[in-house]
Amino acid sequence: MNEKWIIRNGELMDPATGRREIGDLYIANGIIVDRAPDDAHVIEAAGLTVMPGLIDLHVHFREPGNETAETIASGSHAAAHGGFTTVVTMPNTRPSVDSPEQVAYAIRQAAAANAVELLPSACITRDRRGKELSDLSALAAAGAAAFTDDGSTVSDDGLMKAAMQQAALLGIPVMDHALDPIMAGNGVLHDGDAARRLNLPGIPSAAEDTVVARDIALAAETGCATHIQHISSRGAVDLIVAAAARGIPVTGEATPHHLALSDADILEDDGNFKMNPPLRSPADRDALIAAILNGGITTMATDHAPHLAALKAKGIRRAPFGVLGLETALGITYQLLVVEHGMDPLDWLRRWTQGPASVLKRPCPTLQAGTRADIVVADLSTPWTIDSSKFLSNSRNTPFGGRRCQGRAVITLKAVRGISSEMS
Ligand SMILES: [Zn+2]
Repeated sequence: MNEKWIIRNGELMDPATGRREIGDLYIANGIIVDRAPDDAHVIEAAGLTVMPGLIDLHVHFREPGNETAETIASGSHAAAHGGFTTVVTMPNTRPSVDSPEQVAYAIRQAAAANAVELLPSACITRDRRGKELSDLSALAAAGAAAFTDDGSTVSDDGLMKAAMQQAALLGIPVMDHALDPIMAGNGVLHDGDAARRLNLPGIPSAAEDTVVARDIALAAETGCATHIQHISSRGAVDLIVAAAARGIPVTGEATPHHLALSDADILEDDGNFKMNPPLRSPADRDALIAAILNGGITTMATDHAPHLAALKAKGIRRAPFGVLGLETALGITYQLLVVEHGMDPLDWLRRWTQGPASVLKRPCPTLQAGTRADIVVADLSTPWTIDSSKFLSNSRNTPFGGRRCQGRAVITLKAVRGISSEMS
């Protein structure tokens, strides 16, 4: 493949410098360069936007253990198709990622797929059982980018504190699926209107807020960079924003589905509206949108969670938790935040680049010469309709099928191992 590129006449949008103007971008051997290379492949980008590839801190690729739902390769291609160039995978595979061998396996499979940079997170506790710490330093040495037991919280406060003390020394963030399993019980929807209407058991916001408060207290005590995954409640938003303002090293992420939907959108018993934490009330959703708009919450992440259609068809009570996100996130969030709420497109882009990069202790992605050419060329002006039959994911479980939105990746270029591209 030609490794020299000229992306011509696009709108260059750089979250690091705030630059936003029509121009050309030059790439040679995976690096952005400041003059046009000879014999380059030309991409005509007039009418399109050229920006650093998006980073997703929260994806579930189901390999090993459930490759029918998603493999590392299918998930990686879905990510590139959606405009992402870096993803952080969750460790709740079978076996779970609690050994250096499993970390190495994920990195190796992603390298073979050669579509995006995959950064594996690894388990805080052995097999995510919450009983005994994993060997965090060995996992870090193998390349773990973060520690989390996602799918479960670590309920034992002492164990969580010990993990955060070690992670702080290793310089690796701890991420928490903050939800008290006892309070959540057998709940399947937010403990609110939709649960009552459909006569289904609820998950109270307090199940989330109490664990977020615990995590913030431990972050303050240990100094560990602590990231709250998939925030859904207004209480969690308020706690994180207040703690961050006091200088406690805590961040949080908002998913496209928690931003764009609430339990008022659950009109019938449809498993594609079941995720954990659940869609909460319109007031919770509005608090989350406000925090993303004003930067109180710095990061968006998809919680891309593929499941087989047959399982999702079982209805809300029996279906597994989780929905897809990688191939709809750009359009859903651009439509909601920029088109409908008037957010500065640069700030929108920062929530997908600068925010997640800083959680990973990386510099803000940029279009400046000398940096790695992880680039997405996007059409941010043409409305389109989400059609799950076009997904590159192995799964189809989205609550956004048939939804109109604006903003779509056209070409994704990734520099990790030379240049490859995903054309939509
Ligand atoms: Zn989770």
